[in-house]
Amino acid sequence: MKLCDMSIYELSEMLDKKEVSSVEISKDVLSRISKVKDICGGYLTVLDENVILDKAKEADSRISDNKRKSKIDGIPYALKDNMCTKGIATTCASKILENFIPPYDCTVYEHLSNAGGVLVGKCDMDEFAMGSTTENSALGCTKNPWDVNKVAGGSSGGSAAVVSSGQAIFALGSDTGGSIRLPSSFCGVSGIKPTYSAVSRYGLVAFASSLDQIGPITKDARDAAIILDEIVRYDNKDSTSVMVMADYYKNLTGNIKGMKIGIDMAHYDGLNAEVKDAVFTALDDYKALGCEIVDLSFSHNDIALSAYYIISSAEASSNLARFDGVKYGMRIQGGDIIDTYVKTRSEGFGSEVKRRIMLGTFVLSSGYYDAYYKKALKARSVIKNNYDEAFKKCDIVISPTAVSGAFERGRKTQSPTEIYLSDIYTVTANIAGIPAMSIPCGFTKEGMPIGLQIAANSYCEQTILNAAFAYQNSTNFHKQQPNLVKEAK
Ligand code: GLN
Repeated sequence: MKLCDMSIYELSEMLDKKEVSSVEISKDVLSRISKVKDICGGYLTVLDENVILDKAKEADSRISDNKRKSKIDGIPYALKDNMCTKGIATTCASKILENFIPPYDCTVYEHLSNAGGVLVGKCDMDEFAMGSTTENSALGCTKNPWDVNKVAGGSSGGSAAVVSSGQAIFALGSDTGGSIRLPSSFCGVSGIKPTYSAVSRYGLVAFASSLDQIGPITKDARDAAIILDEIVRYDNKDSTSVMVMADYYKNLTGNIKGMKIGIDMAHYDGLNAEVKDAVFTALDDYKALGCEIVDLSFSHNDIALSAYYIISSAEASSNLARFDGVKYGMRIQGGDIIDTYVKTRSEGFGSEVKRRIMLGTFVLSSGYYDAYYKKALKARSVIKNNYDEAFKKCDIVISPTAVSGAFERGRKTQSPTEIYLSDIYTVTANIAGIPAMSIPCGFTKEGMPIGLQIAANSYCEQTILNAAFAYQNSTNFHKQQPNLVKEAK
């Protein structure tokens, strides 16, 4: 296997034993990028080769002095392009921020840099993280490495695609309604959205502040634990940050005997048969590992998606008010200040972003506030209460991550509501603030990966990681590789 296709865990062991150097790993990643970037995309910015190799050399000299800082010291990785990086373009895949170079670093980048991670580049995404396919990117074109005629999922489609195609060993994505989990499911990788408040949002360009969370996209659950150990930290620069005492990697046991798994059979009504079969087979595997299945019946299945699109758009309409042609990025000068705002925003934002701003402004406007926004907040309480009750009966809730495998590019772009339906299984975790992960659990007949979603109560990431780790120890879906990777060797 090529170095760029290995896990953090494997490479870390090899680095510790001095069997490989960070420079060798980084060069292998760069060579993979040059082979596949025109085929499947994934990046908006790849850093200069010398900048990358200098960081790798620094890691190598620490390693030769036996001063390796962490398991990710010397490991090449990527960030979604909505995370601020000082001196490196941070565009949110939007024309309005095309030339924006942040003057500061987001907290997660600081943590990964301090741990010795080697940043390779910034990943493509749906503009301002609004979308489920990465087709809303104004600056890139990312395709699914398993089939380049299909979407990579979104909005962190670039992050999932680069990990799945060996263009980075791991990546960070952000998840407001499923944006880490959906592309992870479509690209056959493992992605976890942590509990709201567990990872600092400082320096993450805000979409919907009460829902946004940053999390890792990796090849497996063990790597996810390694990354969470670096980024789950209290941060006084994020007023919602919480101190979490955890040691995820060390506490990965792989023993889940007696774990109670909640399932809601309503999730399977009318579901695509391939996805249903894959999830049910996974449930059988869990039973074989000693787990017990508990029936749940959520009362929120019909209201969750509407509540999500109302709350997230309302918050987005407020958060995106700052992009006015005065403070950041692009400016189209008008006759007066209002004209400048209008021209800049009309030109700078793509159609999905405008749709969300209009929807959000509408649901917050007087006369409609009670009918939409307030009602959505009530739905939010119902969803949170439902999960609180569910976790009295079970340790994790399992469902599909998505209603299908990845679909053709361009197929749904004409129908925003059809695309919104892709998020049906993922949005409730954000609304309730709980952690949830997607791991590969099978393939469709067309050979596209299928994702299994595992959710747990707030701050129970360890339970999810253990459940995912145990499953991955007894299956090998997460080890399969797209043809594009096999051919690139
Ligand atoms: N697909 C959802 C949306 O378009 C979720 C996006 C996200 O999680 N950033 O809003």
